[in-house]
Amino acid sequence: MKKHGVKTMQVGWPSRAALLERVDAGARQQLPAVATSTAAATGTSPGPSAIDGLTLQPVALDRASDCRRAWQRSLLARVPDSQLAAAVDVMFAYHGDVNFFGERTSGMRRVSGYGPQRNLDIQFAPHRNKVPLVEISDQAKKECALCRPPFPDERGLSWRDYVVWPNAFPYLPQSGQHVVITADKHIGQRFTPQILGDMIDYQRHAGQQAPVTLHYNGIAGNSQFHLHWQASREKLPLQRLLDAGELPLERLHSAANGRIESYEHGYYNGILVTGDRCYVTRWAQLLVERLDSDPLTRGAYNLLLLHPADGQARLVVIPRRADELKPEVASFGKVGFGAFNLGGTVVVPRDEVPDNFGDDYLAAAARTVVRPSELSWLRELMQQPTHPMLRARASA
Ligand SMILES: [Zn+2]
Repeated sequence: MKKHGVKTMQVGWPSRAALLERVDAGARQQLPAVATSTAAATGTSPGPSAIDGLTLQPVALDRASDCRRAWQRSLLARVPDSQLAAAVDVMFAYHGDVNFFGERTSGMRRVSGYGPQRNLDIQFAPHRNKVPLVEISDQAKKECALCRPPFPDERGLSWRDYVVWPNAFPYLPQSGQHVVITADKHIGQRFTPQILGDMIDYQRHAGQQAPVTLHYNGIAGNSQFHLHWQASREKLPLQRLLDAGELPLERLHSAANGRIESYEHGYYNGILVTGDRCYVTRWAQLLVERLDSDPLTRGAYNLLLLHPADGQARLVVIPRRADELKPEVASFGKVGFGAFNLGGTVVVPRDEVPDNFGDDYLAAAARTVVRPSELSWLRELMQQPTHPMLRARASA
């Protein structure tokens, strides 16, 4: 067994400070033409003027195949709903061509059937936190990494009020298409029915060829202020259990256009809201309002959008214990649990784990998650199908 020097397992985007510890200074704007060693090493380059003068002013396009042309003039290609799925494909092909991910995806491997109940996956991503050596200026240091990523060869998609970037620190190989969906303004993590509705739409449009899973860490398991969701081609172990009928569910609410169930099954604890866009966004808002004011959670929760089933969205709400957001895993160190690993895919920035990691990890998960049965208000809330707030919003 190797000695492990890393104390913290981070599943979200590395913090700006952590990133800058590993990145030399220099302005994106002041960079000489494509200063990355990766692009030079592969002989591929996004173009002679790839860095100089590029702005975040999106270039509109009709077809996803025009993205590469747009990226010669701007960091962002503006895509309509109908082109989103194809544009994400083009975006990953482009970043593969310029070797954007470099070493950060090398050595990745997957182990399934992990843990005492054999229902977890481990995604080893040993180089996930390595940052390519680019020069970033003092000015760039002060900027938010999600307003303007500090990588000169990164390109994104402008979609509705969001910017979709490839996650520069992906959990998954390139084929996993791990993206960060950021607000196009510097606003903090938040929930609104509008944002969730957009994410449900994103999932539908981006998942036309192959389904995508979305996740949101909120203030739990995340170190970036700037509002962002993430999406990938992952099919989480939680969903595999659900689809196989192996996740015991307790029905809390049902209506013509949806239903709400809770589950408490070893590692897995949460609330599942299944239904049409309207049902899911409204009930999510009611749940989030309670999670914001509950002293146990104080606004800490994770959200997952599992693959839709039978045309219905499937939102998972995982309440988090405000006092235990980053619990200590005895054999490992402090772990920043997020939606992705609480959905069963544990991302580890190493190439192996300690022998008793599984048991210790489960114990830590049990401390950081608030089980639905601990939420004193949950049943009462569910008994109000014509909740005044729902009526107010329906007529608004
Ligand atoms: Zn920002």
